[in-house]
Amino acid sequence: MLEGIIEEILIKEEELQERIAQLGEKITNYYNQDDEIVMVCILRGGVMFMADLARKINLPVVLDFMDVTSYEGTTTTGNVRIIKDLEESIGDKHVLIVEDIIDTGLTLKHVINMLKTRNPKSIKVCTLLDKPERRTEKHVEIDWNGFEIPNKFVVGYGLDYEERYRNVPFIFVPKSELYEG
Ligand code: 5GP
Ligand code: MG
Ligand code: MG
Repeated sequence: MLEGIIEEILIKEEELQERIAQLGEKITNYYNQDDEIVMVCILRGGVMFMADLARKINLPVVLDFMDVTSYEGTTTTGNVRIIKDLEESIGDKHVLIVEDIIDTGLTLKHVINMLKTRNPKSIKVCTLLDKPERRTEKHVEIDWNGFEIPNKFVVGYGLDYEERYRNVPFIFVPKSELYEG
C-alpha cells in the first residue's frame, strides 16, 4: 500500500523509539521526582509521540489534548485557530507541550502565549521533529527536540497527508506526485 508513495524513509521505527526513550529520560531527570506534569498534546499530529513519550516519563503525569490548526494542504496560512481547548486547568501546574513538528513556529508561539495567560508554574516544549530552516518565529524556544530534519514535507508517526498515513510507524518523505499530482 505504501510502496508507490514513499520517496525516502527519513526516520525508522527503531530510531524513533530509541530517541523517544532518551527524551523520556531527560525529561524525567529535569523535573523533581514529585512534580506533576500536565502533558499537552497538540492534536492530531502529536498523538503517537505523546503516547510513546508519556510511557517513558517516570513522573506523575496528566494527559490533556488541544486541537489547533494552521495548515491548509502543505503550506502554512499563518492562521492559528483553536478547535478544542484543554479539559484541565493548568494554573500553578507544570505544562509540557508535546508537538509533532515545529516548522515556522507559529502554532507553538500562539499556543504558548495562550497557555501563559492561565498562569502555569512552568511551560516547556518537547517536539519530535524540528525544521529549523523554516522558522519564522525566531524566539520560540524548544526545550527537547527529537530530530532536526531538512526542509521537506514529511508524513507518518502522527503526521498526515490529508489526514492519511498517521498510523505509519516511521517518518517518510512522500513522492511529490502525491501532493503535486
Ligand atoms: P508551524 O506552525 O510550526 O509552521 O507548523 C504547525 C503544524 O504544521 C505542525 O505541528 C504540523 O502539524 C504541520 N506541519 C508542519 N510541517 C509538516 C510536515 O512536514 N508534514 C506534515 N504532515 N505536517 C507538517
Ligand atoms: Mg502539530
Ligand atoms: Mg496536518
